[in-house]
Formats: sequence, C-alpha cells, structure tokens
Amino acid sequence: MTFNDFKFVESLQEGLDAMGFEKPTPIQEQAMPIIMDGKDIIATAQTGTGKTAAFILPVLNRISQSGQKGVQALILAPTRELSIQIDQQIQGLAYFLGISSIPIYGGGDGNTWEQQKRALEMGAEIVVATPGRLIALLTSGKINLGSITHLILDEADRMLDMGFSDDILTIVNYLPKKRQTLLFSATMPPKIRKFSQKLLHQPEEISI
Ligand code: AMP
Repeated sequence: MTFNDFKFVESLQEGLDAMGFEKPTPIQEQAMPIIMDGKDIIATAQTGTGKTAAFILPVLNRISQSGQKGVQALILAPTRELSIQIDQQIQGLAYFLGISSIPIYGGGDGNTWEQQKRALEMGAEIVVATPGRLIALLTSGKINLGSITHLILDEADRMLDMGFSDDILTIVNYLPKKRQTLLFSATMPPKIRKFSQKLLHQPEEISI
C-alpha cells in the first residue's frame, strides 16, 4: 500500500513528500480507510507507530474539502509536550494546504492566551489542547467550539490516569452531537472502553 492509494488532495500529498513520508505505517493502513469513511474509531496504538499522522491525514483531507469556516477539529492530549508535538506535525503536513492549527495549554512559556486568541481570530481550523486549559477557556466563553466536526482523543489512557475524564465530558458538552470521534490509546483497559461508550457512536476497533 502507498499513500497514493488514499487519493489525498494534491497539496496534502505534497506535504507528505516534503515530510519524507513514503509509505503508510501499519496503524495508518488500518485506521485511515475507516476514518475516511466517516466512522468513529477506537485504536490501540503506541507512540512511535505513526498514530498521529493516522488521524491527522484524513482529518486534514476532509477539512481541505469542507469549505467551512471556524474551528473544525479538536484534538485533546494529556500534556503540553504532546500538544506541541501534534501541532508541529500538523503544521508540517498541512504546509501546502493553507490549514492552520493552534496549540492551547496552560503554563507560562510565552504561549499566552492573547497569542492563542489571535491565532483563533486569524482562523485556525484545528485546535490541539490539554483538557484543563481548554475547559477554562470554554467556561469563560473565550472559545467557541460549536463548529467542530472532528474530535480526537490522543493517549486517552493517560488523560484518564491524570484525572481528566470529567473535564473531557464537560468539553464534549460544548461540541455538536453530530461529529466524528476518534479515540487513540496505548492501552485499552475496561475503563477506557466504558468511557468511550459515552463519546463514540458505533466505533470500529483496531489494534496494532
Ligand atoms: P507517532 O507514533 O505519531 O508519535 O509518530 C512517530 C514518528 O514517525 C513521527 O516523528 C512521525 O513524523 C513519523 N512518521 C509517521 N508516519 C510516518 C510514515 N508513514 N513514514 C515515515 N515517518 C512517519
């Protein structure tokens, strides 16, 4: 299988070429057809397998063709470091697409709310956020996620271990019910499966 088989829009294929991605990894081969079909997914996959691109590529392809404005994809991640990594991978793959993302996380390393707000006002289509920080912005009305079509939970097991489950459920209340939801986790204990039932609609399950 090659990336050409997925028939991504040309500018996304250019991004893949520029990033030096030549061949899909096993998680990408398994997950991308299901995601491109519009289905929800529960995927068990470790870091280093290419799981980030597995959800980013179909989402970028869809957004590039949607013709919509506003934030269209929300990616929730457990830590600031992971949010930054995901955001950087999006910036690389989306370079020729004219789609932008913004990482939102707490703490004072120069990435202030003012900067984040400006990026949103300039029309970022994708938000990559840690749950605690995002919830503060949502409850104070500083961010509107009413146009989201894709929700992705990355490293869901770590987010639950860090005590984010109530925050995630609150955030989901601010999102449209009609959306595609993708859950990625390194492990799949019963509590993740149970949690996923609250968020996903007839998900397909894959495991690497
Ligand atoms: P991840 O498992 O998402 O943390 O990805 C691990 C690393 O693999 C990242 O640095 C990606 O940029 C890289 N990567 C993801 N997919 C591919 C691919 N198909 N070919 C080459 N490198 C990839």
